[in-house]
Amino acid sequence: MENIRIGIVGLGRLGKVHAFNISQNIPGACLVAACSLDKRELEYARNQLHVEETYSQYEEMIENSNLDAVCIVSPSGFHAEQIQLAMKKGLHVFSEKPMGLNIKEIENTIKIIDQCPNQVFQLGFMRRYDDSYKYAKKLVDNGEIGELTVIRCYGIDPSSGLESFVKFAKASNSGGLFSDMSIHDIDLVRWFSGKEVNRVWAMGKNAAYPELDQVNELETGVALMQLEDKTMAILVAGRNAIHGYHVETELIGTKGMLRIAQVPEKNLVTIFNEHGMVRPTSQNFPERFREAFICELKEFVECIQKNRQSEVTAYDGLQATKVAIACQRSVDTNQIIDIK
Ligand code: NAD
Repeated sequence: MENIRIGIVGLGRLGKVHAFNISQNIPGACLVAACSLDKRELEYARNQLHVEETYSQYEEMIENSNLDAVCIVSPSGFHAEQIQLAMKKGLHVFSEKPMGLNIKEIENTIKIIDQCPNQVFQLGFMRRYDDSYKYAKKLVDNGEIGELTVIRCYGIDPSSGLESFVKFAKASNSGGLFSDMSIHDIDLVRWFSGKEVNRVWAMGKNAAYPELDQVNELETGVALMQLEDKTMAILVAGRNAIHGYHVETELIGTKGMLRIAQVPEKNLVTIFNEHGMVRPTSQNFPERFREAFICELKEFVECIQKNRQSEVTAYDGLQATKVAIACQRSVDTNQIIDIK
């Protein structure tokens, strides 16, 4: 079988990770085109990844390059339109989260995806491809911890990434803390429980970084959720983890509990020094989810090769965004929000 020819749009913080993986780590795929607004990023693609064709216009890339698929890693506000254009062009689509920034545009995008059943669509909820999350999911599905009662999730970006986040938020709307960060945890809540979120109460506080006020972003947010079967979820999201990249999940059931990355460990090394016993922590998303980013794209390519659809669907993207938007509304109005 010929290699799947992929074009990527966006070569920023995450785009570079996906571009590198497609060109080096995904059997059966090759990166033949790249699109970015930044000339230095396009030079990187040409010189370091040997990408044949580079573009500053997405429409030109999908029109002129002989592609089988696109990988969309542009800012969140562009996803829905870029998914639609690629689908209409007959291409398979991998898109980063979120699917879009409002429900109408996501629903319109899903209509177009549904008209193309022979094209693969996959959304970038990479945590589902992380070994620890996969292991935990199997345990939950096998009934090891009984019926779920509470899910607690932390998703906190490192303070060291704040400067680049502020740049990102200034350049383009991130969708806010819940659509940008908690969306992964919302997906985990739906994935582990198999249930939808019915109502949310969320709040937020900015304390350490006034620059986040200027870009209308939250530094820390908390959301309390009730699922359709009365299971409860508590989400903490933030941009100010001094110690590194803190992603942690706890599942409490009637027969036991599971914790995933209770401490966001970098590896198995413990350092004994003048500070005592030190466990280094993971510092950023490319480090913590390095393998998961590779596995999700392997799955995307395998879906294309085997003519099947991915487990992570556009509907998952829609449902997660509905919850994220409800969280933001709850913060803005100080009300509990019911999700229809
Ligand atoms: P970034 O700001 O670092 O990079 C954005 C890239 O998109 C740049 O290469 C820029 O030139 C390009 N771009 C901007 N507007 C464009 C346009 N109109 N046409 C073509 N290219 C354009 O952003 P990032 O942090 O890499 O985030 C990109 C996306 O990935 C976001 O949607 C974000 O939510 C998502 N993301 C997901 C995860 C995850 O954990 N799965 C982590 C980080 C980012």
